[in-house]
Amino acid sequence: MSEKTRHFGSVVIPLYNEEASLPELYRQLTSVMERTFAAHELVFIDDGSSDGSIDVLRELRGRDARVKIISFKRNYGKSAALSEGFKVTRGDVVITIDADLQDNPDEIPELVAKLDEGYDLVSGWKMQRKDPITKTLPSKLFNLTTSIVSGIKIHDFNCGLKCYRGEVVKRISVYGELHRFIPVIAGWEGFRVTEKKVTHFERKYGQSKFGAARFLNGMFDLATVMFLTRRSTSPLHFFGRVAFVFFAVGGLITFYFLMLWLFGRGLHVRPLMVGGLVMIVIAIQIGSFGLLAELFTSKAERTFAYREYRIDD
Ligand code: UDP
Ligand code: MG
Repeated sequence: MSEKTRHFGSVVIPLYNEEASLPELYRQLTSVMERTFAAHELVFIDDGSSDGSIDVLRELRGRDARVKIISFKRNYGKSAALSEGFKVTRGDVVITIDADLQDNPDEIPELVAKLDEGYDLVSGWKMQRKDPITKTLPSKLFNLTTSIVSGIKIHDFNCGLKCYRGEVVKRISVYGELHRFIPVIAGWEGFRVTEKKVTHFERKYGQSKFGAARFLNGMFDLATVMFLTRRSTSPLHFFGRVAFVFFAVGGLITFYFLMLWLFGRGLHVRPLMVGGLVMIVIAIQIGSFGLLAELFTSKAERTFAYREYRIDD
């Protein structure tokens, strides 16, 4: 993408009770977007804030027509906010950034430049994360697991600062806490995903909305993404493999005892024999579970991308 075609930039900013950060964030974003693009828009998604965030936003919109507001009736979460924001963006380049000033807007031009190298999604990599260790450590584990399981080789899936080619965000819809897997979903959709190191700041105002415990949900969500995203693992292929291993081992053991019996060595119950039989039963259970999951997934996949949120404004 050359300078010429890169004419319109959209910034998508999910926020939940961030009134104190918004004026400064607006100033920084406006300054960098004016330098980088011929035209731009700032799409703020108020995720059901209970503080004065919405008033600050309305005030900004009153002064600057490039400010767009989407306002949720209640707190739906960061994923919902991003998804609704993605629906309305008009830019051929879309940037997401957290509202809490932990990400540095001055990184935007360099992220955008990466698109010129042929990438579709550039994810920020907070190499020196300014968060307590109770968050950074589980986060490392989460990132490592996600990278291994998904095959998407980046270090920081959950960085708020990301840059996309416009068409990428139109294909991404997430709910719950699945925003952590946006690079995975995009990668599996066939988009080229890369990362770029970015600076990270400590939170100045307000509080973090995500605790360390959330990473446990992250592991469950990984399974959801694996099974419900198109062109990924099919449940029957996964559970079928597990069932096959159980069936093969259980079958061998049972066969061994069958031989003993056939050749007249006598048969009496031994732990190994019980183990073998139990494994065959487990194999049938897991196998039929996989089949059910497969039937269900083919239906769920169609609705996976679609959620409706009540919008206020
Ligand atoms: N956020 C949101 N809805 C939520 C929780 C968070 O829109 O339910 C926003 C929040 O306002 C911030 C961004 O998502 O702009 C990242 O959240 P936070 O800074 O709390 O996460 P952390 O940096 O601690 O991981
Ligand atoms: Mg933050």
